[in-house]
Amino acid sequence: MAKIPFACGECHRILEDGVDQCPHHPAAKVSADHQGYVLILNPNRSEIAKRLNIAEPGKYALKVNVR
Ligand SMILES: [Zn+2]
Repeated sequence: MAKIPFACGECHRILEDGVDQCPHHPAAKVSADHQGYVLILNPNRSEIAKRLNIAEPGKYALKVNVR
């Protein structure tokens, strides 16, 4: 069974394997309970990026459930 990576509860970024802290939001909670998956290549041209307040290209979860 594949391990589910954590996602940052603040910016929704999906973190690398084994990483349990967002490099941009060290104080934010991370969660393995997230839904949806988007690959943002060009945040400036992406409606989803604007809606999620994403400024950097990368992998993001649409919804992150933080306990
Ligand atoms: Zn973050």
